[in-house]
Amino acid sequence: MRKSRKITIKKSKKTKIRHRRSMVSRKTGTIPISVFDNVMKQFDAAAKKLQIDQSVLEFIKMPRRSTIVNLPVRMDDGTYQMFRAYRVQHSIARGPAKGGIRYHPDVTLDEIQALASWMTWKCAVVNIPFGGGKGGVICDPHEMSEGELERLTRRYVADMIDLFGPDDDVPAPDVGTGPQIMAWFMDTFAMRENRSVPAVVTGKPIKMGGSRGRVEATGRGVMICTREAAKHLKLNLKSATAAVQGFGNVGSVSAKLLHELGVKFTHVSDEYGAIFNAKGIDIEGLVKHREKTKSIVKFPGCKRVKRESVLFAKVDILIPAALENQITEINAGQVRCRILAEGANGPVTPEADKILKKNKVFVIPDILCNAGGVTVSYFEWVQNKIGYFWTEEEVNRRLEEKMVPAFEDVLKVSLENKTQLRIGAFMLAISRVMEVVKLRGIYS
Ligand code: NAD
Repeated sequence: MRKSRKITIKKSKKTKIRHRRSMVSRKTGTIPISVFDNVMKQFDAAAKKLQIDQSVLEFIKMPRRSTIVNLPVRMDDGTYQMFRAYRVQHSIARGPAKGGIRYHPDVTLDEIQALASWMTWKCAVVNIPFGGGKGGVICDPHEMSEGELERLTRRYVADMIDLFGPDDDVPAPDVGTGPQIMAWFMDTFAMRENRSVPAVVTGKPIKMGGSRGRVEATGRGVMICTREAAKHLKLNLKSATAAVQGFGNVGSVSAKLLHELGVKFTHVSDEYGAIFNAKGIDIEGLVKHREKTKSIVKFPGCKRVKRESVLFAKVDILIPAALENQITEINAGQVRCRILAEGANGPVTPEADKILKKNKVFVIPDILCNAGGVTVSYFEWVQNKIGYFWTEEEVNRRLEEKMVPAFEDVLKVSLENKTQLRIGAFMLAISRVMEVVKLRGIYS
């Protein structure tokens, strides 16, 4: 007779549920910051300037549906570990919910609701037919084997499978996830349907229906917005300096593409540390070094500096491209750049925004600046639906055609209303969602 496997379920320290996250609190033990409260404040500040019925505003502001599941996953040592996971659909007014899945030890429901909400406004800013969604799992992908990650991903899909579908909710990669995880996602969904369903997820490997240009899309969008902002401010990029916080997908591509336009990067950081070179860091060399060593630290020819110093570097362009709540009312006064291009979602709190405005920092808000990723995700979804694939040049050209007008629209609304770009972007997005809600009506 076969011996049955002994099942033990353990809850590791990493699955401990954290309700709030703050970059400052980790350092000083103060100011816990709710990211969802931040989005609410940004929304309210913009909504105040629009003539919209308060009760309807509440309807479009709150997440439509939040799902929480606890996933048992068989680990390589034969034990089972529980992982808490979320999927939030903030809005489906303009189209299917759209947004990435994050694997990170600090994931919270508060954060996922905030990220889902930003997705709604981001898709509206670049005028693509999607609503907003986001998912997350409390886990540390760096400490899990490939097999464990595959089992976790498949269980995540299986436990919430009714939520997903090409016309329902279309996930994508975010921090800690990438093309391979999207491939497992699509396969698990396809097994239930008994057919191939590539449009259920974007950010897939190109060989199985991914779009050319998707990996670079978010950084390319950051480059386009920064280039347009520099034009507006009459800043010559060939003599401009820059710093980037976070050197993952978004940070490294933004830096590479801006470097190609002549921008000199003097400061770069990642989770392990920061480096400095007054003459400019060789970005291509740094990308190779990071691929080899998994970090930017110890890159030859650069000085090690404190990680936080990157945010306060005296440069023309600062690109926070790591996580939320990096620039708060505590440290915003020390930011010395001219353009702050938000590669990450939510790196600047609403209180910090006020200080940056006073100090004349030109902030390109996340819902515009990093929208290149979801725009090419939309292109991937379109290509999957029509079954015909574009060249990389075509994808990049179409991305320009979406990002440049979005930048111009946001700038126009901001100038007309004498407000920061963030408020202008929210005003534009809320108006676009409202137009559809009015046409559809509210079923009650
Ligand atoms: P990633 O995991 O590829 O990179 C994150 C980088 O940040 C890594 O280099 C990591 O070492 C670094 N980091 C983490 N904590 C840090 C700290 N305290 N100080 C300095 N560096 C730190 O993730 P990504 O895909 O590049 O995403 C980064 C941000 O961009 C996130 O906010 C994400 O939501 C946002 N974003 C990503 C995409 C996308 O297409 N990947 C699209 C839109 C927005």
